[in-house]
Amino acid sequence: MFKVLITDPIAPEGVEILREAGFQVDEKPDWKGEKLIENIRGYHALIVRSATKVTADVIKAADELRVIGRAGVGLDNIDLNAAKERGIKVLNTPGATAISVAELALGLLLSCARWIPQADRSIRSGKWEKKRFKGIELYGKTLGIIGIGRIGSELAKRAHALGMVILAYDPFVKEHDIAKLVDLDELLSESDFISLHLPLTEDTRHLISTREFELMKEGAVLVNAARGGVVDEDALYKALKSGKLRCAALDVYENEPLPQDSPLRELDNIVMTPHIGAQTVEGQRRAGIEIATKIREYLTGQDNA
Ligand code: NAD
Repeated sequence: MFKVLITDPIAPEGVEILREAGFQVDEKPDWKGEKLIENIRGYHALIVRSATKVTADVIKAADELRVIGRAGVGLDNIDLNAAKERGIKVLNTPGATAISVAELALGLLLSCARWIPQADRSIRSGKWEKKRFKGIELYGKTLGIIGIGRIGSELAKRAHALGMVILAYDPFVKEHDIAKLVDLDELLSESDFISLHLPLTEDTRHLISTREFELMKEGAVLVNAARGGVVDEDALYKALKSGKLRCAALDVYENEPLPQDSPLRELDNIVMTPHIGAQTVEGQRRAGIEIATKIREYLTGQDNA
């Protein structure tokens, strides 16, 4: 009988799929670090989200492990080289939360256009500042999407439906049904709103820095729900402080959790959420079901081989 260990909670529907397959499933959300290393022997599959750190030591201790499943996209918490060395397959669910992240990005665009979080804060402090919160419409504006894969494309569809003109920069995409593909500098200088949906790699670290902010329109809006390191936070701070940018909205940060003393916290023209892009009921349910199905297929497929 296959033994599956789940150390970050996944949707109950996913757990059920594994139990129905006849597997022993143990949900142990408090098994992290040393405790995980002590207890992982004998398990054939490990399912995590982002909280469990699957380090080389964890992998070394996992004598029977055949597959690691990440309910979600990013694999930054898994030592992929160590897994590869031991021949352990790593699976994830890249498409499951694309709509959730795209909807958050849309919410962040609207928050910056209409100052929704700032207006909420103001009214809670007893004020009624109608003049201060003059907004702008998304309708008729140009949205530049950097990285037009799954999430970028879901955002493009939704923003197009709101009457936005869509530009995209993506060196690996040659055509797109909604977005006009342009080079990075053209996107930066032509867009009223810019939303980032590319991975963080050696090539994309600080892709958006001083030069790129200079190229942007006066009063542009930047949304980052991709990965923090894609934006140089020091340069972003300056662009917000100087008023070059109308507003930025971030779901992700160079260091997470965002340090208490981050200067970004002082700014009023910034909207921040704590990496919640994929955190929806539907997205997590899809991710849980998808990872459980993939793990079941992988283990039973190996068994039949
Ligand atoms: P995807 O692979 O479907 O799309 C990413 C796109 O970026 C691809 O089309 C790729 O060609 C493009 N790209 C790669 N390098 C580029 C570059 N240098 N410049 C421009 N484009 C480039 O991935 P996805 O599912 O759409 O996810 C996008 C990113 O969103 C992920 O890498 C992840 O970091 C982030 N994400 C964030 C959250 C969140 O909670 N905020 C959740 C899921 C994913």
